[in-house]
Amino acid sequence: MNKSIKKILSLVCTVSLSVSLGGCGATQTSYDSYTLTPKVYYGFEAPDNGATVYTEDTTSQLTEADIQRMNNGKARFVYGNQGYVSFINGKYSNIKVKDHEDAIRTLQRVAGLIGLGAGSEFFANHGSRDARGYTYYTFQQRYGESTVLNAVLTVIVDPDGNAVGLSSSFTPNIGIPTSTTDVGPDAALELIKKNFSSYNLTYYPEYTHKIAITYNGNTYNAYAIYTSNPDSVGQEFNLRYYEFFVSTEGKIITFYPVASIGTDNMDVTRAEDYFKNLETTNKSFIVTRFDGSKETITVPVSYNKTNNTWYLADASRKIAVGPYDTMSNYAIPEFLTSATGTDWRNQDLLAYDRYIKAYDYYAALGLVSVDGVGIPIMVCTQMPEDNACFFGIHSGWACFAASDLNTFSEAQDCVGHEYTHAVFDSSMISNKYFGITGAINESYADIMGNIMEMLYGMTQDTKWLLCEQSGTTLRSMSSPRDYGQPMSSHDSYYADPNNLQYDNGGVHVNSSLLNLMAYKLYQQGMSLTEERSLWLTTMDMLTPLSEFKEVLESLLLSIDINGFDPAYKDFLIEAFTEAGMLE
Ligand SMILES: [Zn+2]
Repeated sequence: MNKSIKKILSLVCTVSLSVSLGGCGATQTSYDSYTLTPKVYYGFEAPDNGATVYTEDTTSQLTEADIQRMNNGKARFVYGNQGYVSFINGKYSNIKVKDHEDAIRTLQRVAGLIGLGAGSEFFANHGSRDARGYTYYTFQQRYGESTVLNAVLTVIVDPDGNAVGLSSSFTPNIGIPTSTTDVGPDAALELIKKNFSSYNLTYYPEYTHKIAITYNGNTYNAYAIYTSNPDSVGQEFNLRYYEFFVSTEGKIITFYPVASIGTDNMDVTRAEDYFKNLETTNKSFIVTRFDGSKETITVPVSYNKTNNTWYLADASRKIAVGPYDTMSNYAIPEFLTSATGTDWRNQDLLAYDRYIKAYDYYAALGLVSVDGVGIPIMVCTQMPEDNACFFGIHSGWACFAASDLNTFSEAQDCVGHEYTHAVFDSSMISNKYFGITGAINESYADIMGNIMEMLYGMTQDTKWLLCEQSGTTLRSMSSPRDYGQPMSSHDSYYADPNNLQYDNGGVHVNSSLLNLMAYKLYQQGMSLTEERSLWLTTMDMLTPLSEFKEVLESLLLSIDINGFDPAYKDFLIEAFTEAGMLE
């Protein structure tokens, strides 16, 4: 296998660097994060049609034994379902890594191990650097014009520039696409006209242009098409146009209200523009909790001079509260408003306060908003379903829902749970939300939500219960069986991960296996702030198809990175084995 690596399309790589530093000196971890506009693609080319190739390190493919020699026998490997390596915990390259391109060069000699055959293409998506100087370089895989769903790879680099780990959800041996589709700009425009005929839009076809857009974890080659904005709320905020995106394959991806037309810069403000006219001040309110007790909260409220209206919004954090219906059904933001700025509903204030606390918790760790680069947040209240949720990115907003039918959104662990879903999805670009990968997603949400609530001192609970501060306890992380959740994969409560008819393959059931590990580490003496760093670091390493085996490796590597007692590693290996999580 003489795989050579070659840059197959070399355009200017636009890096939008957003440096975010935590303000709190006592925090365990802080991150610099950045996103890349995907304009540079890399690929493994078949030897006979490769034109320009790198010459370094093309001599041979490394075997597991070669890598073991580099690590004195201490490297650890996980193999995925298709027989290729999905996680390397150990140094696997002598190349010093300073950027994404170097990170790709390290993959060259392990291409055979991870199944990157001829025709594999991928691009840099984002990166982050933690307080200890470790850098996580993340890539997405492509197939012709399309990004491969859930196909993400992360290279983990230590402060000296050594590639010390690799986590891969890439699809092995994907091959070279034979044809690509491009419907053309006229057909793309017709698609908008047909699907949005009831909107009475004005079209500006002279501004249509091609763009690569990442939406809900997938990157598309698309046409950006501009129209008027039919929505009066958007016009109040001077967002006079809609920008539609139609993939070159002829699928409508999404649309945003925008202030101007004709830009090809995807990093320009979108939802952020809504905050431009707002002046924010803090106000205190007395709210009533589920049990009738009173609590004083201080939250930011904002005044819009252009229409003399108050908003339950914060122009500094870029968080707003709005009704669920319009955002959920039409992806159109609407806001809770008031003539006085003082007459907000009790449950809206509580949910708003808890989301601000979740934001501040992560921001203190250097993660600004759920994506690390400050995407605006919409807390949508009055959801008709009896639940709470993160329902994705819509029109440039990270959207959370709270309901009047319950009091979940006054419990900090509940809100922290939903907020962490968004952080988790964003850090690994996407997540397969069913079966074991879905249970892992649920567990991270429980773990971080619960630690958040305890570190804020907002509960007296010692059993690691979830949502107990809403009056309705949903789960127990210390004693899962009390709420019908399994202790191990052999437990009668264990849900069949392949039975998607039941809770998406038991995502809220089997989450207890990993929850229990977090609780057990606490019992072993790991502090809450240490746990917070431990799990947060692993979020940078997991990729969308990571299962329990890969989570264990990321925990072991995280213990090393954070400098925690190595005895925790032996403890975890034994605990994961006993719980049947490595079978
Ligand atoms: Zn959840």
